[in-house]
Amino acid sequence: MTGTSASTTTSRISSFLLLIVFITLALSLVALIFAAALVANYINAGSDKTGAYFLLALGLLGIAISTYVLVETRRRLSKLKIVVPPVMTTVECKKCGTKSVREFQRGDFIFKETEPCQKCNDKMLITAIYKEVKEKEKERFPF
Ligand SMILES: [Zn+2]
Repeated sequence: MTGTSASTTTSRISSFLLLIVFITLALSLVALIFAAALVANYINAGSDKTGAYFLLALGLLGIAISTYVLVETRRRLSKLKIVVPPVMTTVECKKCGTKSVREFQRGDFIFKETEPCQKCNDKMLITAIYKEVKEKEKERFPF
């Protein structure tokens, strides 16, 4: 329950963040265009160039910030995707004890009879379904 609501909140925040990033990017581009116009005006008529420099700095800063936020958000989202562990199914032969682990398939449930055993041709049973958590992922969160 907690996981579902948390992921919904994350996607809501990221789409809201994306909107802000695009607005910032658009405003920065407008600032740069104004700066370019002011610089052109300065070259032509020798008017005040302080405003042009200010807009130029503002535009570049805006683009830098929005690019940084965009890259950081993408990096975090791809990290979240990697963290999701795969669901594994353990299949066991009750006759000879042969065990095999494979990825979870649709319709798998515990004590379901599956494909025949490779050694004794007896029917195998699903004995466990679990999420595979790798040790490396635990090291990422030391708390
Ligand atoms: Zn067997």
